[in-house]
Amino acid sequence: MDFYDVVIVGGGHNGLVAATYLAQSGLSTLVLEQQPHTGGAAVSQQVFPGVDARLSRYSYLVSLLPQKIITDLDLSLQLRSRSVASYTPVRRSGRDLGLMVERPEGAATRESFARLTGSDAEYDAWTAFYGSVGAMAEVIAPTLLEPLQSAATLRSRLDPALWDELVDHPFGESVERRFADDTVRGVVATDSVIGTFASLHDPSLIQNRCFLYHLIGNGTGEWRVPVGGMGAVTDALAFAARQAGASLITNASVTSVEVDGVRGSVTWLGGDGERSVDCSYVLSNVAPTTLDTLRGRDVSLKPEGSQLKINLLLSRLPALRSGDDPTRAFAGTFHIDEDYTQLETAYRSAAGGTLPAVPPSEVYCHSLTDASILSPELIASGHHTLTVFGVHFPARLFASDNETARAEATRRTLAGLESYLAEPLEDCIARDADGNLCIEAKTPYDIEESVGMPGGHIFHGDLQWPWSPDDQTVGRWGTETDTANLLICGSGARRGGAVSGLGGHNAAMTILTR
Ligand SMILES: Cc1cc2nc3c(=O)[nH]c(=O)nc-3n(C[C@H](O)[C@H](O)[C@H](O)COP(=O)(O)OP(=O)(O)OC[C@H]3O[C@@H](n4cnc5c(N)ncnc54)[C@H](O)[C@@H]3O)c2cc1C
Repeated sequence: MDFYDVVIVGGGHNGLVAATYLAQSGLSTLVLEQQPHTGGAAVSQQVFPGVDARLSRYSYLVSLLPQKIITDLDLSLQLRSRSVASYTPVRRSGRDLGLMVERPEGAATRESFARLTGSDAEYDAWTAFYGSVGAMAEVIAPTLLEPLQSAATLRSRLDPALWDELVDHPFGESVERRFADDTVRGVVATDSVIGTFASLHDPSLIQNRCFLYHLIGNGTGEWRVPVGGMGAVTDALAFAARQAGASLITNASVTSVEVDGVRGSVTWLGGDGERSVDCSYVLSNVAPTTLDTLRGRDVSLKPEGSQLKINLLLSRLPALRSGDDPTRAFAGTFHIDEDYTQLETAYRSAAGGTLPAVPPSEVYCHSLTDASILSPELIASGHHTLTVFGVHFPARLFASDNETARAEATRRTLAGLESYLAEPLEDCIARDADGNLCIEAKTPYDIEESVGMPGGHIFHGDLQWPWSPDDQTVGRWGTETDTANLLICGSGARRGGAVSGLGGHNAAMTILTR
């Protein structure tokens, strides 16, 4: 076919969401993906040679994908709750302790706070804070699938004092006022710096936006495990898109996008050379700066990612110095050196151009909640996956020598984990068919190279508030560009960040409601 109603540039999960909605509505839809497979950063892959473990190689947990999208698109997808929300190993006065937050929180959580902090005050502050944030999430979550509301409208539906605290002032002020314990402060604060390079006191408030996105998914902010790995999300979406009648072409690297407000033309390089197709609408699932390049425009400000992702396969879970059960501790988010002052120290170090000496990171074990990503033999022999997400590793730290900086950042991060273990980490790491340790590390440069996210920024650019920035955009979808028939359907759309499908849904609705 030489003409489609809609051509989608990029077959990430968001492009597939958009394609399914549009094709279900009867529009002819073509998705062009440069990789041999769809999914972008939402994929499962066998990472270690000869080892039958399909890891969520990049993104790993799901919170922001609305149940409505799963239902609308009839996705065959299971998201499983973790039995533990988080565990933080702590060393105080020579003693190894742990702060355990169960899911749902019960008496053991209160006791854990009291044991660490000496009273009930921190846990009372915790329940009050998250209770208020939960009420805010319930109001904001449904609006993510609707045209943009104004900030004033949303504020009027919420506790105005909480709005002012979380939306108008640096998040660090809130954390410092509400909590006294450095570890508790850090556990609260980390949600504001995942994939976001900022001080807790950054005047831009990007850390506040990041915190909000981490807490509003489906009105609960719960992060769940995709059964079968993140690839299962993409597989379900690709199946739904094809079922709906969308055409998906892989190994198709788009080289140019032309739009005049009414018609569009997209050119790509594929197995059979250069091809072009005309269309009514172009949807961009690629980052906004990538789109600029495809339109022949200058890119002045490239995004900068700030994380180190390490994938590990263990032959067994390591014992902890605290004596706590590793099958509980690693089942939730395991915080390493993410105390509040450690986060700020690491930020300052990285902002000054130096790799953090004590890098904050968080770890989680997929296979404790869903073993289906491992072969029966690996399960039987006690193997487990471990995902490490290091924060405050901006791309600039890897600019001069990615290889050397990656090795050092990985060494420091794993040393941080090991400092809370009762045995050497290396003794617990499995080996691949070549005898190498099953460790893979990805810096922002590696992410850019492997999945095409500019600067390795996991959200295609800094997150934006999930409401209208001004009066003119109230009632729009946050997907619009300067040209009427060109829309952003990916992570770079307002409200598009993370594995959420929101960018795809909202771009499709922009067309379908016109
Ligand atoms: C290490 C890491 C960990 C993360 N962890 C989580 C997590 O646990 N939970 C979560 O919710 N989010 C997480 N994220 C963020 C999340 O993965 C992304 O925000 C999300 O995948 C973006 O989806 P998308 O479909 O908008 O874009 P992408 O996934 O970036 O997909 C864009 C697609 O466009 C393709 N493309 C690019 N250029 C071209 C071209 N010229 N022609 C054709 N195709 C092109 C790419 O190959 C890609 O398939 C993580 C990201 C990373 C990198």
